[in-house]
This record gives sequence, C-alpha cells and structure tokens, in this order.
Amino acid sequence: MPAASTAPAVEGWFATDESGATHLIGGKCTACATYVFPPRENNCPNPGCDSDTLALVPLSRRGTVWSYTENRYAPPPPYPSPDPFEPFAVAAVELAAEGLIVLGKVVEGTLAADLKVGMEMELTTMTLYTDDDGTARTTHAWRIAQ
Ligand SMILES: [Zn+2]
Repeated sequence: MPAASTAPAVEGWFATDESGATHLIGGKCTACATYVFPPRENNCPNPGCDSDTLALVPLSRRGTVWSYTENRYAPPPPYPSPDPFEPFAVAAVELAAEGLIVLGKVVEGTLAADLKVGMEMELTTMTLYTDDDGTARTTHAWRIAQ
C-alpha cells in the first residue's frame, strides 16, 4: 500500500531545508558549546559544566564511519519490522565539528561489507515503517557520501 503521507517517526530529531537537504538537530550548550544528540534543551552533558540551557542547532550533514554492524535478525514486537525481514546495516558516524557520534540505520542496499571505518557518510532519511493510518514514518539514515 503506498503511503498517503509522511511524518517523522520521532518529532524534532531532523529537519529538511528549502533545498531538500536534511540535517539532524542537536542541542548545544550555551555556556561550554558541548553538543548532544538526540536533541534536548536542558542538562548539559559536560560533567564539568553546570549550565542548564542547550540551544537547538543544525548538525553537520556529513561525518565519517566510527563503527558499524549489520542486523540479521528481526527485532521482537512491538518494534516495527518489514515482513519478510531484510538485513540492514547500522553505522555510528562521527561528526568531527561537534565531537559527536550519531548512530543510525544505513540506507537499503548498503550492508556491512560495503562499509569501512573512516568512510565519509552523509545524512538522508528513510521510511522506518508505515503506521496503521498509512503514514510513512521516516527516520534519519546514513548513506555513503556521493
Ligand atoms: Zn555546558
């Protein structure tokens, strides 16, 4: 069944600009400039900082593979999973400017054998599942940079 509409699986983790480019949204401490993802607006993650104010900011669209793996087993319910299950890769991508490592699914068609530590990746989105209303629920994902 084709999706009638699309919506993020989780609100507020990424945004798409006028050019169609998607970026993650992170929290950045207004006192010490430490970043955090998923985004939040309080509780700086730096143990040496007692600021409680994080600004929501766009994060780098590209990073390098820090680690990766491949999931070959369907997750148990209630986690959504296509039927039949297709193996997929997951990459932990380091954003150098922010000093963050962001975990995400890798787009369909790219598996662990295609990935290498240090490889440049770029952000995109993919459908995670289609909900009962026919809405395609999207999530951030990594693909090998063009
Ligand atoms: Zn801070």
